[in-house]
Parts: sequence; C-alpha cells; structure tokens
Amino acid sequence: MSISQLARSIVDSPTLRLNEEARLLRERGLPVIHLGIGEPKNKTPITAILGAANKLNSGEVKYTPTDGTPSLKKAIIKYTEENYNRVVDPENVIVTNGAKQSLFNVIFSLVDPQDEVIVLAPYWVSYPEMVKMAYGVPIIVTPKDGTFYPRMEDILEAVTSYTKAIILNSPNNPSGMVFPEEFIQEIVEFCESKGIYLVMDDIYHRLVFDGGRSVPGYQFTQNDIETTRLIVTNGVSKVYGMTGFRIGWVIASRRLVEVMTNVQAQMTSNPATILQSAAEGALNGIQSYVESLRLTIENNRNVVMQELKSFNGIRVNKPQGTFYCLPDFRAYNENSLELADFLLKKALVVTVPGVQFGIEGHLRLSYSGTVKDITEGIARMKWALDPESPREIYIGDRKMVRDWL
Ligand code: PMP
Repeated sequence: MSISQLARSIVDSPTLRLNEEARLLRERGLPVIHLGIGEPKNKTPITAILGAANKLNSGEVKYTPTDGTPSLKKAIIKYTEENYNRVVDPENVIVTNGAKQSLFNVIFSLVDPQDEVIVLAPYWVSYPEMVKMAYGVPIIVTPKDGTFYPRMEDILEAVTSYTKAIILNSPNNPSGMVFPEEFIQEIVEFCESKGIYLVMDDIYHRLVFDGGRSVPGYQFTQNDIETTRLIVTNGVSKVYGMTGFRIGWVIASRRLVEVMTNVQAQMTSNPATILQSAAEGALNGIQSYVESLRLTIENNRNVVMQELKSFNGIRVNKPQGTFYCLPDFRAYNENSLELADFLLKKALVVTVPGVQFGIEGHLRLSYSGTVKDITEGIARMKWALDPESPREIYIGDRKMVRDWL
C-alpha cells in the first residue's frame, strides 16, 4: 500500500492506544487500574443533559452554521467575559469538535511549510504532530534547569526568523504545573512585540489548586482582539468533565476565525448539533458544578502526593492544577516505555511514558479517577518496583508474589 509520507510521519496517540490496551485486558476479565487517561469520573452536568435532550426532543436536528450556533457562541462570549474579562464579538468565536480541533484549526490556518512552532516540554502529545500535519517544524524547548517551568531565556534561544507561533499550556498536561504570572506576562509581551502568535491552550484553566489561579494572558496586552497575537483555545472536556461531548472553541481575530471556519467547513462542518446544545447547557448552567469537580480533583491530588511520599525512589513536583503528575522514575528505569510496559504486565496498572511528552525517565499518572483506584494503583506500582515493599499483594482476588527483585 502506498501511504503518504506525511501520514506515515504522524505517530499514534499514546493515551488513546493505552486506553484500547486497557479495555482489551479488562474484557479478558483482568482487574486493570487506569492511571493513564485524563477523564474525570463525574456525571455530566444536568443542564447539559437537558440541553441535549430538549434539542433531540424538538426533532429539529439539522446543520448549524459551521462556526457554531449563535446561542452557544453567546454562552461562550459570556464565559469569556466572566473568566477572562474580555468582551468579544460572535465573529471572534469558532466552535469546534473538541479542543483538539480548535488547536488543529489554529495551527493549520497559521503555519506555512517550514514555519517553526515552539512547543514547550513537557508537552501535550498532539502539538508536535499537528504542526507536522501543517508541514511546519515543531521546535521543542526543554527547561535547562530540570524543572517543569519554561524559562524565557531557553525560549529566546529557540526563536528564529521562521518562528510563527508558540504554544503554551498552563495548567500543564502532563506536569500539572501552573506557570508563574511573571512568565505569562513576559511571554505575552514578547510575542506581541515580535508579532509571534501565542496559542494559549486553556483547557484546564479552572482546575487549579491551593487557592491559586491561572492568569488570563489578555491581562498583559493593550491590544484589542483584532490586533493581539494571543489566541485562546478552550472547551468543555475537562472543566465540566464532558470529554465525550467533543465541544471546544477558539477566541481569535475575525480574520483568523473566518479562515478557520473555511478550514473546518471543508473538513467536518459544524460540530454535532445536539452536542452544541449540551455545551450551551453546561456553560449557562450552575457553575458550582465546576467548583465541586475541582475540589474532588484537588483531594485526589492530595491523595496521590501522600501515596507517592512512601515510594522511596521517586521524585515528584507537586501539581498545582489539572489531574496529572509526572514523577521521576529514573531510579527504577531510565526507559519510560519499558517501565510503563512492565507496570501494565506485572501490576495491571496503566501509566503513560514520559518520553511521549518529551521528558524521558518520567511517567504521567492521572488522578482524575477514584481515590480507590489511585491508592490501589500506586500500591501495586510500589509492589512491582520497590524491593522494600512486601513481596505479596492481592491483585483482584489473586494473590501475587513478586519474584523479580
Ligand atoms: N489540550 C490538552 C492539553 C489536552 O490535555 C487535551 C485533552 N487531553 C486537549 C487539548 C483536547 O481536548 P478535547 O478532548 O476537548 O479535544
């Protein structure tokens, strides 16, 4: 078969692949614990369900404008005003099939062949692949000080005359870090002054712990929405726990929204009509829902930190947001692919290898699941890796004896 060079160069999504592996193991009756996927366990907000149900009951489920229904756009505009203190027009908003398509639309609409896009490691796995899909060149910048905080000096070293955009994700998947306000200010001011697009992937922006907050980049620019280089992508997947609804959006200049609408029109057309109604229900509904989800996740974060404390060889930076942490497992194995594979086979625990986020020797653990899964998952990992842990453990109803340490 003759597959295009471009398609061949795109790697698969490791988290989706791991999901599939875990599903197959579960189907065989094995008690797999999934610390791989970033998906809260909450029930869908009732206002979202009612929004979708009413639309369905109307029997009028037809095409909508490609860039989203006027009423969902109105809800997004209200959300942007409340959360970002920015008033934008409907022409500054495009609704997409999940935040993934938001990012793809932005990258595809901005990047020419050979343009460079700076991606900060550790990064969400899809960024470099999406840049490649637009024939651009992802330039990975890894903090030289070994932390998960990007530094302006490292970024400046990577900027060239080909730099078209920088992608920023704070709160960060996979590290759980929230970037300091001073850094956000510096990078916004830098991008505005140099005419480099700053794509802020804000999908976790309300999942911040310990009384902290994620500062909107808009705070640091005088430019209006038509002239700013700041582009914000967002969605209902994480903050409302509505991963299956596949609704995201972009806030950008009219011109960029117009171009992205053309791109989306030729690719997928409008996001599913019923799901747009659901997203509208979530955005217009009671927002205490988000706070209760945030509190649950913060409690899970505390449990993870507590459990990892007794894990001798591990070093971990305390996450300040999202539902991920990225502990350093190099004391056990430098090769994160090998380690994740070992943990899945021996302990039936799914983790995601750090190498896929550009940070080798680490594993990403998600704490979006139940406290029981988190504690049991980490106990199994400890049993598999730490020679000082008891040699016997129950996995499901089977007693397992460690014979490899
Ligand atoms: N950005 C980041 C950083 C993410 O973690 C994810 C989902 N894992 C997305 C974007 C995509 O979100 P969606 O599911 O709405 O497409």
